[in-house]
Amino acid sequence: MNKIAQIVKWCNGALAVDVDINAEIDELATDSRNIEHPETALFIAIKTNLRDGHLYIADAYVAGVRNFLVSRHVEAGELQGANIILVKDTLLALQQIAAGHRKQYKLPVIGITGSNGKTVVKEWLYQLLGGRFSIARSPKSYNSQVGVPLSVWLMEPEHQLGIFEAGISQPGEMEQLEKIIAPTIGVFTNIGEAHSEGFLNIRQKINEKLILFRHAQHLVYCHDHAQLNECIVNYVHHVQDVKLFSWSAKQDADLRVTKINKQGNKTQITASYKGEEATVTIPFGDGASVENAMHCWCVALLLGLSQAEIAEGMMSLQSVSMRLELRHGLNDCTVINDAYNSDLTSLQLALGYLDQQKQHLMHTVIMSDMLQMGKADIDLYEEVAAQISRRGIQRFIGIGPALYKNKAAFRKYKKLRSIFFRSTEDFLKNFHQLTFNKEAILLKGARVFAFEKIGLLLEQQVHQTVMSINLAALKQNLDVFRAELSPGVKTMAMVKAFAYGSGSYEIASLLQHAGIDYLTVAYTDEGISLRKSGITLPIMVMSPDASSFDRMIAWNLEPEIFNFRSLGMFVQIAQTLQVKNYPVHIKLDTGMHRLGFEAHDMEQLITLLKDNPMLQVASIFSHLSASEDPKEDDFTALQAKRFDDMSSQLMRELPNSPLRHLCNSAAIVRHHSLHYDMVRLGLGLYGVDGSHSLEGKLQQISTLKTMIAQVRDVPAGDSVGYGHKAMADHDRRIAVICIGYADGYLRDLGNGNAYVLIHGQQARTIGSICMDMCMVDITNIPEAKEGDEVTVFGNDLPVTLLGQWANTISYEIMTSISQRVKRVYINEE
Ligand SMILES: *Cc1c(COP(=O)(O)O)cnc(C)c1O
Repeated sequence: MNKIAQIVKWCNGALAVDVDINAEIDELATDSRNIEHPETALFIAIKTNLRDGHLYIADAYVAGVRNFLVSRHVEAGELQGANIILVKDTLLALQQIAAGHRKQYKLPVIGITGSNGKTVVKEWLYQLLGGRFSIARSPKSYNSQVGVPLSVWLMEPEHQLGIFEAGISQPGEMEQLEKIIAPTIGVFTNIGEAHSEGFLNIRQKINEKLILFRHAQHLVYCHDHAQLNECIVNYVHHVQDVKLFSWSAKQDADLRVTKINKQGNKTQITASYKGEEATVTIPFGDGASVENAMHCWCVALLLGLSQAEIAEGMMSLQSVSMRLELRHGLNDCTVINDAYNSDLTSLQLALGYLDQQKQHLMHTVIMSDMLQMGKADIDLYEEVAAQISRRGIQRFIGIGPALYKNKAAFRKYKKLRSIFFRSTEDFLKNFHQLTFNKEAILLKGARVFAFEKIGLLLEQQVHQTVMSINLAALKQNLDVFRAELSPGVKTMAMVKAFAYGSGSYEIASLLQHAGIDYLTVAYTDEGISLRKSGITLPIMVMSPDASSFDRMIAWNLEPEIFNFRSLGMFVQIAQTLQVKNYPVHIKLDTGMHRLGFEAHDMEQLITLLKDNPMLQVASIFSHLSASEDPKEDDFTALQAKRFDDMSSQLMRELPNSPLRHLCNSAAIVRHHSLHYDMVRLGLGLYGVDGSHSLEGKLQQISTLKTMIAQVRDVPAGDSVGYGHKAMADHDRRIAVICIGYADGYLRDLGNGNAYVLIHGQQARTIGSICMDMCMVDITNIPEAKEGDEVTVFGNDLPVTLLGQWANTISYEIMTSISQRVKRVYINEE
């Protein structure tokens, strides 16, 4: 453990307030919502252009933290009994602390960088070497300026090897990461051709990445990437003496691949090393896996493993999934399936995600024995039990001999119900005696325990048509828009219409977690269901119908007031319920001519608002009708002028100062001068670039897939589908796919107006779209067969294209996907 005095020294800090300079720190925390051991944690207030950690100091204090690292003055009085360290730059301090921590250890450390494969190589090395060494490694893909120091901090005296990955996005960043990781063995996986921001060209990118190996003794890389090889050889020649260890399938190298033999899902690789041939088989059939495995092979040789040991490990490599899948389960449960490794760090991450599932009061963890080296079982499970109990989890189901033996560690927490089974089979046999109802369930099992069988029982039968929603992509889209905003401008997210078809609660919960300021729904009922599932953000309701005003107030939802009639009725209810300062939002009509007050209404509106102080205007806003269209910029300017005039008139007379907001997604990007105090983000969040000026920075968050139900051959001259139409003069092969207009696949997409993707190839619709299915032409896709996956839209087939085909807009395509289509939420790192 590190003492606080030591930490102060490492980061050159000043102890602004010292209460206890002997306080011990075993955890570095940058997120106040995710702190494992508050008593011994140091909360580091990091400021990025999106978020300022200083705003969460109070939360961390309430959670029990008593040590803080800050870069600006904080009132000590509010942090009774806490140590406060003051530095100039908290991110730099975090990095210096991690570098100081790293220096305490003399052991081999593998540093991995490159464009692709970093995480897989790191995890595979862990799988290959885990039986030999006690290993510290980066959790998931923690490879950033913040992620690397947090990873390296996990090194402890018992470790014999470190494996960390490093990723950078601009020049200058690797310098810091090198000091923190200080690798003795380097792995440079590969370099992508894609142009990346911040770098002049690929060579500059390679050279920057090479900085990671400044003090390394060995560097592993593939000789066959020409540019990479050139830069590395040059680097070794001019800059530094490091022993290169290369592999190649084409030329002479330390490990020379002589034969690659693909057999379905397996690949046999033969290579010669020091004049002797050896063969390994990996359980993967793709080229990227071969490349990743080769890098691991080189490292394993460097670390002294024998060819026989390596071959044995390679055979059982497991795919690295960084997904946490959220699915709807039986009896209204939500199931989180964590297919990631089973160890303490990943448990902590998964528990954090479970904690966010506030729509359920009851939380259950089903976990298998952990296969973690370096800790005695008893200590390991004491720690697991402590984590589980601290998170307020009500039920723990432990599966496996080691957990069974260590029951007592869990039983001592009186509020935690715990049940144990010796094996997965035992659990499955007893499944029907357990009840699972309206709860969030985390499934976390090491591979050998085959938890997928439990998943099958808990999850609802998947309807063949599934829309998967990538929550990580949503978060990235949000960040793209936040980067457009000046500091202090707030964000309101539009989650109306079931979050543009994506599902309300899951999206709202993510947005709440991401620190958004406001949510907006269309109807009171939508707002209530968000409240019921634990959303506490302020929520504006856009089309409040007067009969629901009382329920709005009961659930703390804020109405949009757009005319005198709605104002009058809300006032009545507010008087009856005797509310004070109730927040309302005043909508102005500046040219859209939908809802809203007009200029000539202002005086009367002011009088009414002054007469009714139980209402407080929280915001004033208007909607632009053509913000995406450069040809209409004059009209947008006119709308803005009207908004400015009307809202200024109101602001002068109102006792408080409401927020003003005007911009929707397209306007955020195209009209920076109109951001006012807040912006309203809709379509862009879901990955559609209405502004046409974000150059592919957004990711479509939803993918709709279905399945081929039947394949048949239709002779020339025969028709397909209703109406005895759709004939052709040649023989065709058609596939019937499980999606129709009742799922939201619009009828206009029929008769060849649209295509779907099968095995990556286009298959056009034939005949009309039926209610539950439709037909597509697969004459040119001979490998297509029954049961195959069909992509209706997704990253390779944008929703905007479907919009064009059906003569409509993306908004309609997205919101038309019916509720019977199952949604699956994916949180991918
Ligand atoms: C839907 C909506 C938005 C969001 O518009 P996008 O174009 O989807 O960003 C903003 N403001 C109002 C009033 C809306 O109804």
